[in-house]
Amino acid sequence: MELLHLSALLAACLLLLTAGVMLYRRRRRSRALAAAFPDAWLAIIRQNLPPYSKLSPEVQQQVRGYTQEFLYDKNFEGCGGLTLNDEIRVTIAAQASLLLLNRKVRCYPNLYSVLVYPSAYVAKTETDQESVRLGESWRTGAVVLAWDSARHGAANFADGRNLVIHEFAHQLDQEDGASDGTPILAGRSSYTAWARVLSREYERLRRRVAKGKPSVIDAYGASHPAEFFAVASEAFFEKPRQLGSKHPELYAELRKFYQVDPQTWV
Ligand SMILES: [Zn+2]
Repeated sequence: MELLHLSALLAACLLLLTAGVMLYRRRRRSRALAAAFPDAWLAIIRQNLPPYSKLSPEVQQQVRGYTQEFLYDKNFEGCGGLTLNDEIRVTIAAQASLLLLNRKVRCYPNLYSVLVYPSAYVAKTETDQESVRLGESWRTGAVVLAWDSARHGAANFADGRNLVIHEFAHQLDQEDGASDGTPILAGRSSYTAWARVLSREYERLRRRVAKGKPSVIDAYGASHPAEFFAVASEAFFEKPRQLGSKHPELYAELRKFYQVDPQTWV
């Protein structure tokens, strides 16, 4: 009987302790996120992310908020001899925040770590082959990036290529557990239109690529629906006018999903 009491008491203490630690962590996080955005970080965003200056003050506030949240919650790891600094962290976090604006969503809830290499790195494929890569997005909560490409993608925000947008589009796609080119959409009815437009555009790109014809959407998108969504997202943010005029339905779907209109950023 006494043993039973003791173990119940211990369990209650443990529960109380856990709740206390959680409360402490939550408060510490809220305080950190409520702190003023560091001037040095803002200088990095202004320097490295050209579209920032085109956003409304309200949307700029969202970029800063998501950047702060990202940097507080996600663990960054320098790989291949790379020493991390604020420029690397802020440039990646601010670009990743562009995919969340106006959507009232949590900041990549499944993502825990961002691994950054100085440049292209060699990874082993499933069949144990070596493959040179610039980035990867894992469903298990990690994104891998080559810093030189991540920086270049941000600075040249009009060439249609953006590694960070590409890999974080994969993260959004993977949030429902499947890498299939369909992220979590707002409302059931959105899925029908999405499937219709995206699958038709995917097939269209495959035909163009097979014939060797160029497209606003990178040819790599013809390899898989998940890659199609990732490269279409790059074109949406970086070549909005061309994508809007050549692929108006696709542009409209992406605009509905991303809740921004990058044509107004140009
Ligand atoms: Zn990809």
